[in-house]
Amino acid sequence: MKGNVIKMFALCAALVGQAPFALAMPVTNSYIQSSAKEIRGLLGGYSQPTVYVNQNACGEPQSSAMACGPRTISVGTGFLQQQESSYGNYVAKFILAHEWGHTVQFTYNINLQPPMQELQADCVGGTFAKYAETNLRYPSFIENAVASARDAADYQEHGTPSQRDYYSRYGYANGFDNCMNSI
Ligand SMILES: [Zn+2]
Repeated sequence: MKGNVIKMFALCAALVGQAPFALAMPVTNSYIQSSAKEIRGLLGGYSQPTVYVNQNACGEPQSSAMACGPRTISVGTGFLQQQESSYGNYVAKFILAHEWGHTVQFTYNINLQPPMQELQADCVGGTFAKYAETNLRYPSFIENAVASARDAADYQEHGTPSQRDYYSRYGYANGFDNCMNSI
């Protein structure tokens, strides 16, 4: 009996220790638009893009996430759902904030050498992860976001996994102004 109680305790401890994203949330148009509204709360003073969902508004051939001007972000629910299913809840918000960072770059004509243009956008994504946690009371999703960013590193345009990791966390720790002034 005592042995069973101990075993059960160990099982509970193991379950509690697991990451809480066994069930991925559905990534819908309304989830994306409400995320955009949240990001506007942090970055709306720097750029005011419209977020187009499943419309290939940047002429992209498949479901993805991209910005193609100061006022245009285009995302696909298929791509963002796959990201949240693979890396955990709210990764789509980080990706959307990364694209928002590109619209800020377009707005202010910022053109950094590769991979710094992309790493600055990662930094902006990190600042939103912190804002969501601190101001909007979301559970932390910076680890999910970093895992996603690392896996999408291409060693050229987007940099290496460790660069993407570093700059996402840099933004999380240091905030938007440092992304724009120190990178
Ligand atoms: Zn990018």
